[in-house]
Amino acid sequence: SGARVRRAHNKRLPQYLERGVDVKFSDVAGLGKIRLELEEIVKFFTHGEMYRRRGVKIPGGILLCGPPGVGKTLLAKAVAGEAGVNFFSISASQFVEIYVGVGASRVRALYQEARENAPSVVFIDELDAVGRERGLIKGSGGQERDATLNQLLVSLDGFEGRGEVITIASTNRPDILDPALVRPGRFDRKIYIPKPGLIGRIEILKVHARKKPMAEDVDYMAIASMTDGMVGAELANIVEVAAINMMRDGRTEITTDDLLQAAQMEERGMLDRKERSLDTWKQVAINEAAMAVVAVNYPDLKNIEFVTIAPRAGRELGYVRMKMDPIKFKEGMLTRQSLRDHITVQLAPRAADELWFGEDQLSTIWAETADNARSAARTYVLGGLSEKHHGLSNFWVADRLNDLDTEALQIVNMCYERAKEILQKNRKLMDAVVDELVQKKSLTKQEFFSLVELHGSIKPMPPSI
Ligand code: ADP
Repeated sequence: SGARVRRAHNKRLPQYLERGVDVKFSDVAGLGKIRLELEEIVKFFTHGEMYRRRGVKIPGGILLCGPPGVGKTLLAKAVAGEAGVNFFSISASQFVEIYVGVGASRVRALYQEARENAPSVVFIDELDAVGRERGLIKGSGGQERDATLNQLLVSLDGFEGRGEVITIASTNRPDILDPALVRPGRFDRKIYIPKPGLIGRIEILKVHARKKPMAEDVDYMAIASMTDGMVGAELANIVEVAAINMMRDGRTEITTDDLLQAAQMEERGMLDRKERSLDTWKQVAINEAAMAVVAVNYPDLKNIEFVTIAPRAGRELGYVRMKMDPIKFKEGMLTRQSLRDHITVQLAPRAADELWFGEDQLSTIWAETADNARSAARTYVLGGLSEKHHGLSNFWVADRLNDLDTEALQIVNMCYERAKEILQKNRKLMDAVVDELVQKKSLTKQEFFSLVELHGSIKPMPPSI
């Protein structure tokens, strides 16, 4: 039956072939300088002869590294599309079979096919599924995978006239690949594709909006700034879901609001129409309002995008979306001051619970944000940002852990008092936000800031975007 299985799989192979790929670089947005590197790969196809004549080695394989959904597959296709060559794709997990020999024979068949249809791009998705360092997996599954990997190495080496078949593979774990795979002549070129930044997200949204009936005044910046951390696949999905929203309402144009709704759905899952008692709505509202009201007092955190107490699948309570200062937070860096502000904001729900319900009625509604505060406080102290221990001495002194915890606790206490103070000074604003939240369940940025204008005791700077 092994032989039958093998034949069946081999027969399935041609379905991975795509002729006349119509994806172009212009379909992949937010690439920045990476685009130059990819244009060079296209030249290996279109000007292969020139490279060879001048004795320039064409790489056998290119490794696209990066998290899922950033467009690695799309890019590989765009290379084939721009070069006008055939495209073969397979997921490395499809190579790996429990029958010994099946994986290896698939690799062989794939490359044979690619050569017969040269010039071509062979795209191997999730290379790490088969390319993990050999010998790490024990048992017969490991043997099978080793055989597959060996065949892949043989296939990569097997091209005399380089430039006819180029292999592009994707992985999120270049660090665990078998060293033999990344040796010169094999996957000897790595290109890192990071998650898109603010501008990248705007560009990606716009690429997907190209084929859709968008309203004239769509605010891409607003959507991009509330989707911090999202990748191309998620952004593409937001545009699709927005189009569905439009259709459902019988409208003919996609609005900013459609995109906004879709972005929230992408992030938080479907709205869960839960029944709650008025008391519960109110308690959740106090929890979320507290974060927003305290955050408004801090320059880096003041850009509240959205406040909601509408429960969604996978997340019980409400949620405050803040846009952090895109410059400071771009590389995941925080300054000493902004880290302290962050801790204060994360402690606001706990402070509000105490102020509004009293010590005896404290709940655990703030458990998650208190956790955030705790870990931020430890980062603060361990990084030598606290008053007591400037410099990095804290990093190395393991036996002072008790000291460090004492310091972290001091930071937490200081920030907690500050959160309480802000909330007490802004009782009117808190009450107004809580009332509106209970009524409407969600407040947009505009709605929230008009309440701040009206009731806030500390006049915040207006939102910058
Ligand atoms: P990966 O291979 O990195 O997991 P994909 O290439 O499969 O990601 O991305 C899935 C989809 O997401 C693409 O088909 C495309 O619609 C969208 N996408 C991802 N990244 C981008 C990007 N940089 N520009 C435009 N669309 C993108």
